[in-house]
Amino acid sequence: MDKYDVGIIGAGIAGSCLAILLAQQGKKVVIFEKELYPKHKVCGEFISLESYDFFKQIGLSLDDWNLPIIKELELTSQKGASFKRSLKIGGFGLSRAKLDFELTQLFNKYNITFYPNTKVDSVDGQSIYYNKEEVVADFIVGAHGKYSASYTHQKRKLQKKNYVGVKYHIKGDFDPGLISLHSFEGGYCGMSKIEDNQYCLCYLCESSQLKASNNNVQKLEENVLMKNLKLKSILESAEFLWDKPLIISNIRFDKELLFDNTMLFAGDAAGSISPLSGNGMSIAAKTALMLSEICRTQDDFSIICKEYDKAWNQLFGSKVERAKTLNRIMLNPTTHHWVIRLFKLLPPIGSIVINSMQGKPFYVRK
Ligand SMILES: Cc1cc2nc3c(=O)[nH]c(=O)nc-3n(C[C@H](O)[C@H](O)[C@H](O)COP(=O)(O)OP(=O)(O)OC[C@H]3O[C@@H](n4cnc5c(N)ncnc54)[C@H](O)[C@@H]3O)c2cc1C
Repeated sequence: MDKYDVGIIGAGIAGSCLAILLAQQGKKVVIFEKELYPKHKVCGEFISLESYDFFKQIGLSLDDWNLPIIKELELTSQKGASFKRSLKIGGFGLSRAKLDFELTQLFNKYNITFYPNTKVDSVDGQSIYYNKEEVVADFIVGAHGKYSASYTHQKRKLQKKNYVGVKYHIKGDFDPGLISLHSFEGGYCGMSKIEDNQYCLCYLCESSQLKASNNNVQKLEENVLMKNLKLKSILESAEFLWDKPLIISNIRFDKELLFDNTMLFAGDAAGSISPLSGNGMSIAAKTALMLSEICRTQDDFSIICKEYDKAWNQLFGSKVERAKTLNRIMLNPTTHHWVIRLFKLLPPIGSIVINSMQGKPFYVRK
């Protein structure tokens, strides 16, 4: 049976970054991913610039990919209000299909054992089971994303509201330096540029809205999204690059468990933040950095858990709550309309709120 220092479940941003960082420290790492990459994921694909240098430090050649830099945000409401403001830090656009794939391409360089297309079925103590096989790791991290994974046996709190996420890649005559967020009844849609002259158009909406449109996305867009006239003009003028959208359901945003008796959790598995913050991917990368820094000096599981809990709550605890409040405002067309009008009247307040979700640039300690 193969034995590793660290076993990681999920090669999204959190899992892949953690695998690379720990391997750079000399640890023997194994990582499992149930999908086969490259693969599209429902995500707005706007990455806060706070993580640009970090991704470069761990080996991505971002400078060579001619990626759009996005420095302005526009908010529009269904009732016709709009507000545009420059972002203090801003972001860059990169598809998840490319980002996730390129991260896994770095595994070879660091001798990381990678099992793509392999779902972890269960974890018991230090054993990870997949396809009726077993590997053993001193230290196991769940980086399985926002959905509860069956291998954890965790029961998630019931939530009143569930969301669906819908994503397209489109082309059109749009502003390459702008991320726009358009609200509609029970949801909002973001659009920003990614690589290859494409734009990512991704919306989040209460499941009840889709149900009311007979679970028909086209009807939902015609009946609900297009009531926001700015969004209507985008949807009507865009060239859609896929035959059908990518759709996921049962999305929720909350803090989850950071650890249990046997393992730790990173990225969305530890807590997912409303996409409104434009920051989930950077948070996933930061949790990986945070855990790797703790593991650099500690190898006692209970001490690692304690330090991780403290550092996570210090950095992200209040952010998750703030993002939930912004999410509620965004989902209510009337409140959102008046908030945009307030921002227009008092732009400094708009700037403070808009920039409050972004963090500071972070780096790997040499
Ligand atoms: C609609 C929407 C829009 C968003 N827009 C943005 C945005 O514009 N900017 C931003 O920064 N963030 C955005 N986010 C948030 C962002 O997508 C997440 O925060 C980020 O993907 C978290 O990364 P992760 O590595 O934790 O999880 P993921 O990227 O979800 O990776 C988890 C991986 O684990 C794998 N996995 C799961 N279970 C198993 C198993 N049993 N065995 C093996 N593998 C497994 C999955 O296949 C997956 O690849 C958005 C989220 C949503 C829902």
